[in-house]
Amino acid sequence: MSTQTAPAVTGPSAAVKTVGVVGGGTMGNGIAQTFATAGFAVELVDLEPPFVQRALATIGKNLERVAKKQAWGVERAPAILARIHGGTSLEAARDCELVVEAVSEDLALKQKIFAALDRAAPAGAVLATNTSSISITEIAAATKRADRVIGMHFMNPVPVMTLVEIVRGHMTSDATCALTEDLAQRLGKTPVAVNDYPGFVSNRILMPMINEAAFCLMEGVATREAIDTVMKLGMNHPMGPLALADLIGLDTCLSIMEVLYTGFGDPKYRPCPLLRSLVRAGQLGRKTGRGFYEYPAA
Ligand code: NAD
Repeated sequence: MSTQTAPAVTGPSAAVKTVGVVGGGTMGNGIAQTFATAGFAVELVDLEPPFVQRALATIGKNLERVAKKQAWGVERAPAILARIHGGTSLEAARDCELVVEAVSEDLALKQKIFAALDRAAPAGAVLATNTSSISITEIAAATKRADRVIGMHFMNPVPVMTLVEIVRGHMTSDATCALTEDLAQRLGKTPVAVNDYPGFVSNRILMPMINEAAFCLMEGVATREAIDTVMKLGMNHPMGPLALADLIGLDTCLSIMEVLYTGFGDPKYRPCPLLRSLVRAGQLGRKTGRGFYEYPAA
């Protein structure tokens, strides 16, 4: 592990030097890259060594791209990568002042991980989840430190998107909120505080739009390209909803719709059967090479 840590700072998050990231997939590798770029030491944990290697390789490639685009010094990308230490044990949390969990959108899995992190992390450490929609309060209930559990909802792709939705659970303390918001600012992001309701603000609004686009496709209202073009040119969205769903991951989209559907008990959140079928078929979007669109390997 690199001994290089964040520069001296003041503020509620000044004591945070080492950050754990659990899950090195689409979001986890972006979160690890973002913290390391801001000068933090990062402990990246995934299930198996090949998953950890894949996450580190993705971060390496992304950093090279950023280095070229932003004309960084050539030495900067390897130095950032060297701040990230990969492994497969949650025991790595013992060295962290903050851990951000970014495993799949599954309550039972997240609760299991939070119970283990609660045992492994120092008593004062904050445990954050990047969940898109699951109740922070319910995840926190798996720990004995519900006051130090919070939602830190990054957007995809993490290094590019500036919003972090800071989700306050029922028991989250003011100090934990202040620390997390301060930390998001140190990453160059804009934190926005919201309360713990299904889907928070971002996915309560975004996901029903994506789900409705899937219904339009399923019902033959228009082709996938036509649906996305209407939303891009007509609503000035940078990406169409179906292309965005592929970027997010169709499994993640479906899980969020299920949380909205059960959380509110309102049929308007019924997941589109086409979305369900694609997930069952393993067509999860960009990460599997196929979703609403095809992504031949580059
Ligand atoms: P993903 O499927 O790309 O990655 C999940 C990673 O977690 C995988 O690498 C997997 O191996 C790892 N994992 C699973 N079980 C684990 C365990 N027990 N220990 C350690 N690692 C484990 O998923 P993702 O898209 O990165 O989503 C992660 C979280 O972020 C979800 O809660 C999701 O809702 C949320 N989120 C996703 C997006 C998005 O656009 N994809 C945006 C914001 C938030």
